[in-house]
Amino acid sequence: MSKVANQSVNVAWGTPLSGGSQRLLLLGSGELGREVALEAMRLGIEVIAVDAYANAPAMQVAHRSHVLSMLDGDALKQVVAQERPTLIVPEVEALATDTLIELEAEGWTVIPTAMATRLTMDREGIRRLAAEELGLPTSPYRFAATEGEYRDAIASIGLPCVVKPVMSSSGKGQSLVKTAADVDAAWSYAFEAGRGKDPRVIVEGFVEFDTEITLLTVRSHPQLADAQAATHFCPPIGHRQEEGDYRESWQPCALKPSTLETCQQIAKTITDALGGVGLFGVELFIAGDPSHDQTVYFSEVSPRPHDTGMVTMVSQNMSEFELHVRAIVGLPIGDIEQIRPGASAVILAQESSNSPTFTGVAEALTVPSTKLRLFGKPRAHRNRRMGVALALGDTVEQARQRARDCAEQVQVH
Ligand code: AMP
Repeated sequence: MSKVANQSVNVAWGTPLSGGSQRLLLLGSGELGREVALEAMRLGIEVIAVDAYANAPAMQVAHRSHVLSMLDGDALKQVVAQERPTLIVPEVEALATDTLIELEAEGWTVIPTAMATRLTMDREGIRRLAAEELGLPTSPYRFAATEGEYRDAIASIGLPCVVKPVMSSSGKGQSLVKTAADVDAAWSYAFEAGRGKDPRVIVEGFVEFDTEITLLTVRSHPQLADAQAATHFCPPIGHRQEEGDYRESWQPCALKPSTLETCQQIAKTITDALGGVGLFGVELFIAGDPSHDQTVYFSEVSPRPHDTGMVTMVSQNMSEFELHVRAIVGLPIGDIEQIRPGASAVILAQESSNSPTFTGVAEALTVPSTKLRLFGKPRAHRNRRMGVALALGDTVEQARQRARDCAEQVQVH
């Protein structure tokens, strides 16, 4: 396999499908990947979408697609050899990250870096980097691989605590353990969800936070002119989670200046450590009354656009997806401007279906200043995110109410 030149600024790129194009290989083709694909295509980039199932959202808008297990290293190598992408752009966590490290060593460009994808693939790599190497404040935590270790971890962390499989997202396998009576059920639930991938769990002390935010953080290309070759921040996004999964988000989330500065310092520290270029979603918990000093805890980071950041499709001059594409192809980021207070509210399926249909779409869009994104997922199951309502308002409260009103009208059957 020949070496592909590393991404650099001012590179000339040809027309899609003409041979000389910039080719973006998207590993993961969900709703976030679909928006990345659309933004890349707007800049004349050729997009190849990959996922484990056919007709995934990003595949429906990409130039080409491949269905394969992205945990299968040989299959990943084969698709890279065939497509010869300029950029390999992970959109999910569960990937054969050791293969990405090999591919990067051969000269292929992995966004943001292959090591960042490995560290964020499971909860252990990123937690140990943040807490033990970088000294960032986090909840207390212990890892456990067996039931005995799990019981020791609970005893040492204390109750209440949160139990999560190390390989999981969107609340799958996650439980809040409030009393001794919850301990067994939390282990079985986490173990079921983690089985086949990694049977370990993380036991985290429960943080009594007042607010949780995502700070979208953009690392641009180091070869850009000074002011642009920097770390850029979007205004903070507040969000509400249920069962470990996001239900609504809003921007801006009001924070006092000293707290915002602490959030930005933590985001810069963790994203500098991960390196590379692109947009990152840094999840932070903020505890304490704003009239006193507040404590900011690092929770997690996604080295790519974040689900709570979908609100930026209406609230900013450039969405998180446009910012990600600009950063990864080496373009200047420009000024990130918030247009008006905005909000998003998710549309979930209530039941399983092999041909989901939506009703209430027209009614939903009678709510002022709203937009809908329906993801086009070919199958639904209970609590699967099928779409999102986006709204603007004069205030965050008004935008949140509109987004909720809009989302509530849409039914998935
Ligand atoms: P995660 O998958 O780790 O992002 O967790 C999903 C959500 O669960 C978070 O956004 C929080 O709302 C909640 N959560 C996770 N860990 C903790 C914790 N240690 N203390 C309090 N809440 C938590």
